Amino acid sequence: MNDSYGDGTRVVHSVSGGPGEPYGAQPVFASAYHLGGDDFYGRVGNPTWRALEQALGSLEGGECVVFPSGMAAIMTLLRSVLSTGDTLAVPSDGYFLTRRVVSEMDVKVIEVPTAGPYPSFEGVRLVLLETPSNPGLDVCDIAALADAAHAAGALLAVDNTTATPLGQRPLELGADIVVASDSKAVSGHSDVLFGHVTVASPELAARVRELRTSNGAIPGPFETWLALRGLATLDLRLARQAENAAAIYELLKGRVDGLRWPGAPEDPAYLVAAQQMRRFNGVLTFELPSVEAVDEFLSRLEVVSAATSFGGLHSTADRRAQFGDPVPEGLVRFSAGCEDTADLVADVSQALGLV
Ligand SMILES: *Cc1c(COP(=O)(O)O)cnc(C)c1O
Repeated sequence: MNDSYGDGTRVVHSVSGGPGEPYGAQPVFASAYHLGGDDFYGRVGNPTWRALEQALGSLEGGECVVFPSGMAAIMTLLRSVLSTGDTLAVPSDGYFLTRRVVSEMDVKVIEVPTAGPYPSFEGVRLVLLETPSNPGLDVCDIAALADAAHAAGALLAVDNTTATPLGQRPLELGADIVVASDSKAVSGHSDVLFGHVTVASPELAARVRELRTSNGAIPGPFETWLALRGLATLDLRLARQAENAAAIYELLKGRVDGLRWPGAPEDPAYLVAAQQMRRFNGVLTFELPSVEAVDEFLSRLEVVSAATSFGGLHSTADRRAQFGDPVPEGLVRFSAGCEDTADLVADVSQALGLV
């Protein structure tokens, strides 16, 4: 697609068919096909997967392979790249399950905070970054770390879940691999789990695809279609979510501790974020003094609901330490949704007793 088009045009057209075809790709439910065409068996290939893979691949500038969840994408990627005894670097402050699954693999793991300092990557096979990190929202310099990884002979992967394919294009910044959960903003309606891997190298894409086929962790056509349908409105949703996050940030500034949103010029991550991200999104974090203070905040909210996950239409908030994230007890992850800004600001304001 023409690269000069804006995000709205790109994302809408990434999921639409050609002349004579339905506007949107349709789910194809098939375990077996008449032989002679592109497909023969449902674990190996499906036209609905290919429609979403083309859409995400065109937005991210690489070859995409879809998975039934972010974790299935991450696990298959790790298995595709790592052998027994290899060394892997992962974020110490990133998605908690990634650290858990690598600790159970036969590999050596180095944990590094997203904000650094980073050790030498000598002897490392794969460096996995997560930027902005979930839930701390720290950011690291993808291009600089890709150079350092490549100089040491390592591959560099970026978990791009928080940023989304519109918010950041790691492959253009020098990363070899993008991995993401599309259960968040990409599908965007809190009704489907999904994930994908996008890579620059066709050989690695083939290996990831082969492992998906042999391991059988494949997405259902209906779920794939839900993700496609969600992707089409990603530009609109991100715009409202970022607008809402900016307003909540303004409301909370100076009134809570540990307020983080990489889109705010005051945020410690802003300089690097503004340089490498194409746009910001609706996820912010802040700290309240205690577990009780968070419980009270959540119970007083009316527009925002207490729920985990992020990036959906609905504004949600949750206390991350309850899920085992290594963060202060009172750290709240707030995902600004698509409600009206004034309603959201008023709700957060009353729930914190600011009015
Ligand atoms: C949610 C999430 C995952 C896991 O994705 P699922 O779709 O829940 O399996 C991985 N990485 C990050 C950064 C996430 O936020």
